[in-house]
Amino acid sequence: MNLAWHRVDLSLRHLFRISRSAVATTPTVQVTFSHDGITGHGEASPSKRYGQSPESVESALAKLDLAAALADPYRLEDLDAYLIETIPAEPAARAAVEMAVTDWIGRSLGQPQWRLWGLDPGRAPVTSFTIAIDSPDAMAERVREADAYAVLKIKLGGPDDRGVIEAIRRVTDKPIRVDANEGWSREQAVREIEWLAGQGVEFVEQPLPAGDLDGTRWVHERSALPLYADENAGTSADLPALVGAFDGINIKLMKCGGLREALRMTHTARALGLKLMIGCMIESSVAITAAAQLTPLLDHADLDGNLLVTNDPYRGVTLDATGRLVLPTTPGLGVYPLAHHQPL
Ligand code: MG
Repeated sequence: MNLAWHRVDLSLRHLFRISRSAVATTPTVQVTFSHDGITGHGEASPSKRYGQSPESVESALAKLDLAAALADPYRLEDLDAYLIETIPAEPAARAAVEMAVTDWIGRSLGQPQWRLWGLDPGRAPVTSFTIAIDSPDAMAERVREADAYAVLKIKLGGPDDRGVIEAIRRVTDKPIRVDANEGWSREQAVREIEWLAGQGVEFVEQPLPAGDLDGTRWVHERSALPLYADENAGTSADLPALVGAFDGINIKLMKCGGLREALRMTHTARALGLKLMIGCMIESSVAITAAAQLTPLLDHADLDGNLLVTNDPYRGVTLDATGRLVLPTTPGLGVYPLAHHQPL
């Protein structure tokens, strides 16, 4: 069993600004797991918000000895336990390794991941397309460029949120979702959400800082729109506390540590009556396609990280003419490096 990795800096088509940061490139660590002549692919896109970096991912990966830890690569429960024990603070690195081994298993069985989970790929939803913070005119221009996508996710928490929505509403009447990325205060959130409810907005993601869950409860009681937790929803263990503060959650592989924990979050959220979406960091088609495998179980998808970059080295999930996710029918995650024209 061999684990290998290399850095790939993904270049963004446009500067990607949210309420707390702005980036032109995003470092990722691409991981492969090889065994018995088959190679599986995984990816880590570490987030500073969660205390990770490409260096922390690489040093976490260097601590692993899968050959010693795993009697059999199919034993994903053992892999999960080993990863949690060995690199607990590195969910992106854990997600990458579990993704690569999961891809390996699917390839070795000759079946796509959605099929191994018993899912109907026809139930995959449309993905929203993210418009990052910029001037109202520039954001309206990005919306024009995003003609192919049926639903937009607008990043707010900048200096002129209402100006942005007004400029966007002059160029499109598509459904909009809004993500404040913890950028509002309590009173501001209630005020802005009240206004957004009249602008064709479906729901609002993470209005307040994750540390202000009491405030989010207060906002939720007064909110004219459903609220979705992102920064507040790391793993399944976080979810019971969110009932009464949020209506839904945004799962991300890089926060929760992998596909199996994402699946646990799905079932936990359903049991708690929370709606479900799955989102992403800026990622290549490897991690986006892995996340897409779960989407037949979810209400919404925001899997556009690969669409925002100019140098995606892989192909995997695609979109149909309506913006719906088309899950690959090839074995495993269904991803392959672009240098190869045939799936590996
Ligand atoms: Mg978010």
